Amino acid sequence: MTMGFHRPTSLAHATELKASLGAGAFFLAGGTELNSRASRLDPLHLIDISALELDFLEKERGSLVIGATTTIQELIEAPPVPTPLRQAALNITNRNIRNQATLGGQVANNKNWGALLPALLVMGARIRGLDERGNHLEMELRDYLDEHPPALLVSIVVPLPSAGRATAVDQFTRSANDIPMVTVAASMGRRLERVHRPLLAVGGVADRVLRLEQPEALLDGGVLPEPAAIRRMIRSAISPVSDQKGGAHFKRHITCVLLTNAIYTAFSAAKDPGTEEMG
Ligand SMILES: Cc1cc2nc3c(=O)[nH]c(=O)nc-3n(C[C@H](O)[C@H](O)[C@H](O)COP(=O)(O)OP(=O)(O)OC[C@H]3O[C@@H](n4cnc5c(N)ncnc54)[C@H](O)[C@@H]3O)c2cc1C
Repeated sequence: MTMGFHRPTSLAHATELKASLGAGAFFLAGGTELNSRASRLDPLHLIDISALELDFLEKERGSLVIGATTTIQELIEAPPVPTPLRQAALNITNRNIRNQATLGGQVANNKNWGALLPALLVMGARIRGLDERGNHLEMELRDYLDEHPPALLVSIVVPLPSAGRATAVDQFTRSANDIPMVTVAASMGRRLERVHRPLLAVGGVADRVLRLEQPEALLDGGVLPEPAAIRRMIRSAISPVSDQKGGAHFKRHITCVLLTNAIYTAFSAAKDPGTEEMG
């Protein structure tokens, strides 16, 4: 049962509150997780972060810095947001949820099925925040998801795609209004008709969203293999478990299909910068 509701107006006050109220205190953003009946979170204190002015988008040296309380719907509507991130945002159930749920909430929630997380991972996103002592924290999203340090997320830094690189995202849900069973993203460049520096990420097949380094290494620098060969690479890199969303066998199958399609889509859209210049 929630005992206290706090609405700080500065970042310093927000982190002080969190430090003094302890583990039972939660930052409240859109509340779609915290107020959900399915949530296992049981806050004693809510620290509403809506007055911290973290709803912004700014360009900074080749990156887009997106404030943590930017809503998922704003990601869809804001022109500078890179297409793959917008597409991943569009995959989130319905407009009512997207109007409320925030980017920071999605990242801090760190669910293995988070729709935006594979896209953010292959785009090389970083997080900026404040630790519990109020010190500035900046780290790769990948490390944040692995370590999940207690922090107030302030922004997510998304590098803008480099020339010729392409990213594709996809997901599978049991119904249009359900949370995803599997989410995938593939990003790569193209050099002399070969795959260049592929980055692959999947959600729903482990306890967190994963980068698939082994298939990445196998694909890098080579001619794009036949789909069946790519599916074999992916199959050997994942170990999904059965849960209420689906059986392990089906999850493995659908991950291989979706990610192989995403790899083909990204490779087709990628442009060789050398060829571009000659053209
Ligand atoms: C009906 C429904 C359908 C959904 N469908 C999808 C879907 O299709 N795909 C999908 O990916 N998700 C889905 N979700 C999940 C939801 O959209 C995400 O969890 C959402 O992004 C969370 O954002 P929020 O702002 O509502 O977070 P909140 O509920 O406010 O907070 C969630 C967690 O993050 C923490 N937190 C929030 N902001 C910060 C911050 N700035 N710094 C540190 N910690 C913070 C909170 O303390 C809490 O622990 C669905 C949820 C519901 C209820």
